[in-house]
Amino acid sequence: MAASPAEGLSAEASQAEASSASDPLGTPWPRTATRGPDGAVSVGGVRLPDLAAAQGTPLYVLDERDMRERAAALRDAMTGAFGELGVSADLFYAGKAFLCRGVARWMAQERLGIDTASLGELTTALSAGVEPRRIGLHGNNKSDAEIELALTEGIERLVLDSLVEIDRVADVAAGLGVRARVMLRVTTGVHAGGHEYISTGHEDQKFGLSVHPARPGEDAPAMTALLAILERGELELLGIHSHIGSQILDPAGFAAAAESVMRLRADLAERTGVLVGEVDLGGGFGVAYLPGEVELDPERIAKETASAIAEAAATTETALPQVSFEPGRSIVGPAGITLYTVGTVKPVRLPEGSDVEERLYVSIDGGMGDNIRPALYGAAYHAELVGRVSSAPLVRARVVGKHCESGDIVVHDVDLPADTHAGDLLAVAVTGAYGRSMASTYNLMPRPGVVAVREGEVTPLVRRETVADLLALDQG
Ligand SMILES: *Cc1c(COP(=O)(O)O)cnc(C)c1O
Repeated sequence: MAASPAEGLSAEASQAEASSASDPLGTPWPRTATRGPDGAVSVGGVRLPDLAAAQGTPLYVLDERDMRERAAALRDAMTGAFGELGVSADLFYAGKAFLCRGVARWMAQERLGIDTASLGELTTALSAGVEPRRIGLHGNNKSDAEIELALTEGIERLVLDSLVEIDRVADVAAGLGVRARVMLRVTTGVHAGGHEYISTGHEDQKFGLSVHPARPGEDAPAMTALLAILERGELELLGIHSHIGSQILDPAGFAAAAESVMRLRADLAERTGVLVGEVDLGGGFGVAYLPGEVELDPERIAKETASAIAEAAATTETALPQVSFEPGRSIVGPAGITLYTVGTVKPVRLPEGSDVEERLYVSIDGGMGDNIRPALYGAAYHAELVGRVSSAPLVRARVVGKHCESGDIVVHDVDLPADTHAGDLLAVAVTGAYGRSMASTYNLMPRPGVVAVREGEVTPLVRRETVADLLALDQG
């Protein structure tokens, strides 16, 4: 996968990078993003206007250095904090955030494993040459093909999610004559997301098995499942897994979940004598989507989870477990941007009493097909013009796509120059996670390609889809 410089980009790019007049853009832009005196933004030493001219828009652009540094910083924070306790901490990159073979290799080079949740993700990781012993498989409804591929390849761990799955996996393992390495996904009642977490103590969702008994006197569903796993000789129980949510900015939720999982682990040891070796606390570390927001600091999450685990081990008088995490968004999200070309710009006068008198609707050549998160979750994003300077005043704007939905909004509220016009290059920040991976071909609009940029060089990661690709699936 040698990086291939896009024609004519490198020389200009390094000039732009060397220019003392280039200012770092800062949060929420990728770490290597700078703006030159002409207003053109460069990422990874590549000028975005040149990139757009060479590759077309819309285009996902990934700052390779930023993504690798994020992976390494999390890895070092975790191995540091847990190392002080004398236990290892392992990271599995959550492939669903964005997975292709190039990214899988970067993560393997940074010594992260890969978590997968489908035949496609599993096959992609294997095809990238990731060692099966560094791959995990999730899913609440795994297919026979997924289970068979995972067990045939000897992947590191399969995360069991229901009672029926215990026997399904054990039966497949028996048929293949292998022993399946498994974890059990539990729900702790801790739900986190955004700035807060709540601990409900009961569960009404499709993932995992609860650590809390549904009725007094009953076993917790998670305990029932752990006992069932230990009954099946074809299964090797590695540990217990908990994933509490996404975009979490308060580490207290992880500490609460860690304590809950540690208690279940101790209960199992008391009942069976089996003290499982590993606790996986999932992913969900929050990032900054907007200027002025602050991401969840890797050092902080590492220290707080390590002290929660240590405290729980002391309280329950059990040996410390190995710990693992599965970050996706916090590694790839802020490293990625989407480049668009502005088309129709329409000022819309609003009735009296609205938040503004007039809103500038800026239409781009993509939309909800390449970024569904605003429509799906009301997610907020930030956008800027990245191809020129403007001395026009900033006005309240809304960045909208070209799909046939009024909810096709990519950036709900952002200030853009009043002279924003057709042909302008616009970038949306922090689209590296759950952008391309959740993209659709709604309106039969082909999905954008993904390129990596690094030190003035452009590496294609995923080819842009074409209308011909879409028509190739059409059976006439
Ligand atoms: C989605 C998911 C992750 C990754 O979450 P991020 O918010 O991207 O860090 C990790 N583990 C499991 C089980 C998940 O479902």
